Parts: sequence; C-alpha cells; structure tokens
Amino acid sequence: MPDNMVQLVNVVKEFEDNVAVNDLSIDIRRGEFLTLLGPSGCGKTTALRMIAGFEQPTRGEIYLDGENVVGRPPYKRVVNTVFQNYALFPHMNVAENIAFGLKMKKMAKAEINEQVTRMLSLVQLEAYGERRPNQLSGGQRQRVAIARALATNPKVLLLDEPLGALDLKLRKQMQLELKHLQQRLGITFIFVTHDQEEALIMSDRIGVMHRGRLDQLGTPSEIYDKPRTIFVADFIGETNLFSTVVTKWDGNTAYVDVEGCGVPVDGTGLRAGEAVTLSVRPERIRLSSKPEPGFFYLQARLKERIFVGTALKTVLVLPTGTEVVVSEQALAPVISEQDEYYVTWNMEAAVVIKTE
Ligand code: ATP
Repeated sequence: MPDNMVQLVNVVKEFEDNVAVNDLSIDIRRGEFLTLLGPSGCGKTTALRMIAGFEQPTRGEIYLDGENVVGRPPYKRVVNTVFQNYALFPHMNVAENIAFGLKMKKMAKAEINEQVTRMLSLVQLEAYGERRPNQLSGGQRQRVAIARALATNPKVLLLDEPLGALDLKLRKQMQLELKHLQQRLGITFIFVTHDQEEALIMSDRIGVMHRGRLDQLGTPSEIYDKPRTIFVADFIGETNLFSTVVTKWDGNTAYVDVEGCGVPVDGTGLRAGEAVTLSVRPERIRLSSKPEPGFFYLQARLKERIFVGTALKTVLVLPTGTEVVVSEQALAPVISEQDEYYVTWNMEAAVVIKTE
C-alpha cells in the first residue's frame, strides 16, 4: 500500500491565457488532514477540482491510492466532495440526501438504511432524518453535506471552504468537530480555505498556495514559525518585515542592518552583502522603558495601543517612519503607557528570508 494517498506531479491547469495552477507537486499522506491555504484566486479550488475529477489538468499526473486517475470521471474516483454551498437536494429529506449516492451505486435497500443510520449518528443528527434541508440550521445542513459525502466510504474527502457560510462561533465549533471526525475516521481530508487561523487549528499539514504555486508545505508550527517566503510570513498571522542586508558575518551569527542598528541573526547559509528580509512576529518583540543590557535596541515612538480582547496590540513608529507592531497579553502589559519605548527581540525570534 503506498504511503501517499494523493499525489500531484507537476500539475498545470491553464484556462485560455490564465494559468490557474502552475507546476504543483504535492504528496498527501494516508489519513492526513491537509489544508490548501491561500488568497482568493491562488488556484486552490482548481487543484481540488482536479483531484475530484471535475477538471482535467492541462499537464501533469494525479495519483489516487497509487493509480493515475487523469481522464477518469469523478464517480470512478475514490474521493467525494463537500461544497461550500452544501449542494443538498431541497426536495429530499435528510435521510434521502444521505442515501442518494448509495442508491446511485445500486446498494441494497436494507444496507442503505443501515448506512444512513450510521451516518446520521456520526454527525449527531439521529432525530433529523425526516427534515427537509430548509428546516435545518446552517451548521446542521453542513453536517448533512458531510454525512452524504462520507456515506459512500470515500478514501479521500475533499472539502472546499465548507465552513465559509457559517457565523464565527458556529464556524469555530465546526472546525473542531470536523477535525475530531477526521481523527476518528482516519481517512484523508483535503480542506481548502483562505482563512489562515482555520488552517492552523485544523490541519496536520498546510500547503500555502500563491499564484498557482505551492510556496510552502509544512506543519502549522513550521508554517507559522519558519516561513520560507515573504508571502507566507505575511499571509499567516501578523508579522513585522524588515528589508535589509547582511552587514557582517562571523561564523554562526550574522548581523543585519535595521535602522542603523546591527541586529544579530542566525548566520547559517548567509554571507556578507546579501539582501534579506527579517520577519519578526509581534508576540516575539519585547518593549521596555530603557535599553536592556546586552541586547540591541531600536528606539520607537508610540502610535497607538489597541485592545483586542486577549491581547494588547501596540503600534510603534521607528525614526525612519517604519511601523512596528508588538502584541502583549492584555492582562499583563510589560510597561505602562509612555511616549518613548525601546524595542528588542531574541535572536531566534527573527526569521531570515532571502530576498529573491
Ligand atoms: P477562491 O478562494 O476565490 O475560490 P481559489 O484560490 O480557489 O480562489 P481558483 O478558483 O482555483 O482560486 O481560481 C484560480 C484562477 O483560475 C483564478 O484566476 C480564476 O479566475 C481562474 N479560473 C478558475 N476557474 C476558471 C474557469 N473555469 N475558467 C477560466 N478561469 C478560471
């Protein structure tokens, strides 16, 4: 049995003069929750539709459970899709919606009934089999769509922004519900979203897409803590980016220039004179009322402090006009409000991205 459940090899999809997916190669493991994340138009839905079989690639290969499926129609693939708009049949009740794919497969009636009961229980809608979709809440409709897609026992479930239409509270609840469901079933989920927080919460691994390409593939913490491109650093969470050059290199440590100050960074793979961008997360920056002994410092002026519930977000301005955002725990701001601050961070807090 191959380890990879889904494999895309150099997949390209062109629509007339528009390249929607550009040389995408990705291996998705058996039983993994993988999210394709990126802004609108980056090609994630097109990638998913090619795995489902609704679109055929212009070039490249797609393997499902070890078999090349290019050219094979959707119903002959071991996948099923849950769409954002649910796509439930309005004239059928919940049980009939879930049974639909099983009837198409000509399963025996008794077996269909058993499977429908199992699916209703899986998504905790045992009492709702007789209801029509318009008699359900958004979250319940979404659960029916998931139950219907799972009823045919696909090896891979494809989910295209399935929580997009739900309000924030329900959406957060459904994120955990879906993740737990996937863990229980152990089947491969490929989830598409533009919501970075959703991707971080739910996924085993995230593939960040940008302009049809895969910019980075990694665990949520790798993507958040070690972004490899400026796009990934900026798209995932909030960050401070400093475009700079390596001024000095002495073995393990390199120094880059930020506002005339030599800031130490991990020197691995760097050389003097090289153009780089530093990415420093707001929660990794420390504020103080006077320079910390032994640390570099940047002097900064307070612009505004914003209370955002769990955090206090402080926006500061460096002498050249560059803004720096610092996030502190709301209940424990380090220092009281004042005009002048000193800003510093530990060497490990700065991610160095080579400027292309
Ligand atoms: P969204 O989050 O807005 O759905 P996406 O990342 O899923 O965006 P896609 O829907 O895959 O992006 O679209 C990628 C690009 O391909 C876009 O520029 C889009 O306009 C284009 N595209 C998608 N489908 C077609 C089509 N059937 N014909 C022509 N162009 C298309």
